[in-house]
Amino acid sequence: MALYEASATQLLSQLESGEVTSVEVTQACLDRIREHDGAVGAFLKVMDEKALAKAAEVDRKRKAGEDLGLLAGVPVAVKDLLCTEGEVTTCASKMLENFVPPYSSTVIKKLEAADAVIVGKTNMDEFAMGGSTENSALGKTRNPWNTDLVPGGSSGGAAACLAAQMVPLSIGTDTGGSIRQPASFCGVVGLKPTYGRVSRFGLIAFASSLDQIGPMARTAEDTALFLEAMAGHDPQDSTSANVACPLFSKTVDQPLEGLRIGLVKEHFGEGLDSEVEKSVREAVAVYEKLGAKVVDISLPHNKYGIATYYIIAPSEASSNLARFDGAHYGHRCDEATMLEELQKEKEAFEAAGDELGLKRMDTPLIRMYRQSRAEGFGPEVKRRIMLGTYTLSAGYYDAFYLKALKVRRLIREDYDKAFKAVDVIVGPTAPNPAFAAGSKTNDPLAMYLEDLYTVTANLAGIPAISIPCGMTSGGLPVGLHMQAPALEEDRLLRAAYMFQKETAWHAKTPSL
Ligand code: GLN
Repeated sequence: MALYEASATQLLSQLESGEVTSVEVTQACLDRIREHDGAVGAFLKVMDEKALAKAAEVDRKRKAGEDLGLLAGVPVAVKDLLCTEGEVTTCASKMLENFVPPYSSTVIKKLEAADAVIVGKTNMDEFAMGGSTENSALGKTRNPWNTDLVPGGSSGGAAACLAAQMVPLSIGTDTGGSIRQPASFCGVVGLKPTYGRVSRFGLIAFASSLDQIGPMARTAEDTALFLEAMAGHDPQDSTSANVACPLFSKTVDQPLEGLRIGLVKEHFGEGLDSEVEKSVREAVAVYEKLGAKVVDISLPHNKYGIATYYIIAPSEASSNLARFDGAHYGHRCDEATMLEELQKEKEAFEAAGDELGLKRMDTPLIRMYRQSRAEGFGPEVKRRIMLGTYTLSAGYYDAFYLKALKVRRLIREDYDKAFKAVDVIVGPTAPNPAFAAGSKTNDPLAMYLEDLYTVTANLAGIPAISIPCGMTSGGLPVGLHMQAPALEEDRLLRAAYMFQKETAWHAKTPSL
């Protein structure tokens, strides 16, 4: 087996036995990236030198018998919205194209403490808004299974680099499905933890009550190990759960006895691709063979998930993104040209004797904000800011935002009720397999429907995972979505492991 094919768990045992060094492993990943990322476009930045230096340092520590972290010497990719001290962090936006954070996010610090080797930063939809990575202002990412197709999004680069075997571990973030949908499109594993399980300190916020950072990998075991390395209480994030973090990697291989699986009747209706449905039903049959009991359940408010999410997420985004104004943060327009244009406008109003026009003119400061934001943000981000500003404005707040919060509560209560009867809820991750690049870019609503099955877990704050569970006749991966009650990631990982022991979907790889 080539080094790039190995899982993190396999690499760790080879590193521990001295069979390979971290420098060799890291170099294998860097070579793989150099060879194939031209076609895939998963990375916005590759940090060759830093990665090799870290790998050499870990090798030295290992040789000297020093204490080593959980991921000692294993290459990891990071979505480019996690602050990395001294390294550009762009959110795939022109707004932050040159932003170098003065500090690292908690998750990055934890990975460094775990002795992981960070090899690069991955492409994404701008500010994590989107489901195809086509909203990136800085590059295109394609699906390694077929480069005419999108990898999903917003963690499209994160999923694509795993599928293309460029790294064994990759960090994503999920506000409404951005870890799980790309995992499903690329045939890898992606877990959105419980809200509060992983610190958001140093994550550039999209919608703060929904955002979660989570692990992506090719196997359940690796996902468990990776989550263990990044999770845990952090006093710097006031929403971080102050609970002990289980050792996920120690329990992942323990099968779940008497598992009760909930099938949501609302999940199998209109809009679901028939081949996706077939794979999901076959996966459920695998669990039945393993002794699980299937229970039909209903989540009656699920149908309001998309509407609720697309009010709450843009509302929070409009508030979070207010800081990018060219003064506090972000791209600033060219001031000399801006002032010249403002002067010309003034002269035109004066020549026309337009008093009102003169009165309504921007001050230079307001014009600087306005123009910097107009230049820095892409169309989808602007759409969200406008939507969110509208739903939060006086007169509409009650009708939209407040109502959405009430529906959010009902969605959560549906889950509370369902989890009295079942242990996990199982269904499709996305309504369809990967789609053609460009096919949904002019239809935002079609793009929003990608999140049909995933947004409710974010609204309820519960953990959810996507694992590969089949292939379409066209050779594209299908993802199985599993949801569990808050703080029960362990249950999802064990269920995923059980499935992977029985099947080989996760071992399939695209030929590049
Ligand atoms: N596709 C969803 C959106 O565009 C989810 C994004 C995410 O989870 N970051 O908002």
